Amino acid sequence: MVPVQAQKVFSEIEKLKTDMTSVLMELIRTPAVAPENGGAGELKKAEKLLQILHAEGFDKIERFDAEDERVPSKRRPNVVAYSYGENSSEKLWIITHLDVVPPGEDSLWTVTKPFEPIVKEGHIYGRGSEDNGQSLIASIYAVKALKSLGIKPKRTVALAFVADEEQGSMYGIQHLLKQGLFKKDDLIVVPDGGNENGSFIEIAEKSALWLRVRTIGKQTHASRPDKGLNAHRIGMEYALALDKMLHAKYSLKDEYFDPPESTFEPTKKDKNVDAVNIVPGEDITCFDCRVLPNYNIEEVLNDIHGLAEEFEKKTGAIIKIEVLHKSVAPKPTDASAKIVSMLTEAIKKLRGVEPKIGGIGGGTCAAFFRKIDVPAVVWSTIDETAHQPNEYAKIENLANDAKIFAFLAIS
Ligand SMILES: [Zn+2]
Repeated sequence: MVPVQAQKVFSEIEKLKTDMTSVLMELIRTPAVAPENGGAGELKKAEKLLQILHAEGFDKIERFDAEDERVPSKRRPNVVAYSYGENSSEKLWIITHLDVVPPGEDSLWTVTKPFEPIVKEGHIYGRGSEDNGQSLIASIYAVKALKSLGIKPKRTVALAFVADEEQGSMYGIQHLLKQGLFKKDDLIVVPDGGNENGSFIEIAEKSALWLRVRTIGKQTHASRPDKGLNAHRIGMEYALALDKMLHAKYSLKDEYFDPPESTFEPTKKDKNVDAVNIVPGEDITCFDCRVLPNYNIEEVLNDIHGLAEEFEKKTGAIIKIEVLHKSVAPKPTDASAKIVSMLTEAIKKLRGVEPKIGGIGGGTCAAFFRKIDVPAVVWSTIDETAHQPNEYAKIENLANDAKIFAFLAIS
């Protein structure tokens, strides 16, 4: 049974749906792309967010900017908003990120332009709508609903809005962790992953390895390939061979994870020459690898280098492997941690489903908490459209996830 007080909160949240939708759309209109992807960072979006938070009457709002010379403002903002609870020593943290990935191929955005959000059949379309706008707004409105009804949360609710999640979190959650805000018995929710009905609680993740493969040959006129060395062909051959080798060698499946196997994906492809009639002397392909914690990431990297050397000998090209990002999977959050059972209870009561507890490809802020032995769960209700064209958030999920957050705050 859901207590009467909670039911009141839920109908309040239902009433706030229109507001939630328009505020999310307002935030989507302000891109917050990382400097690595040619963006100016999160400052403008954080300023909008601060206006919203100030209007909602949080008990305390703090800002922790990280210095970053690469953005015009030289700052990467991190914002924390508190709503004090009856028990001020226990804190429920809901951690979301402000930054978004770039839109990708423009022509693939067929519903609307990436930063011009629209609502269609109960879906809000736009870059950052699902990742991580939906949860960001849901966390704010969970608190707003309690405030409107004059309900003090049982424990202090702290909302953190961080920068730089999509590029490794150096200027985001890692910067915030250095401020000493978090304690071992804090309850940490990172709503930055999940499934379509919110029945999956993530407590473990895979190791991540991002690579840039640079193949160097010799540029020449395309009518005389014999006078050069086609880096594009060798680069493609190496990429395909690497893809095959990694999948064959690291093929273990662990049903605890979703997907159960390690993934090795060729992703970004850098532009090479300007004209069709030039044989490229350089070729760049990137790989995103998510490896089950059973495997040693250094061993994977050794194999990648080994295959590159083989190709160098075979072709005469030079293949340089640059590691763009490497994170070794931390120890999973204990399945019996308080936040895991609280969330399990909330999902059972509110949704009538028994959630599955497991691991995913990972790379969320939760990893940084697990590294320092603070239990953290990743959970939200999403169709997993993040990083894709026509990314969307369902208004239904926006409201229903806010109910779960509010329930965690008061029960
Ligand atoms: Zn995200």
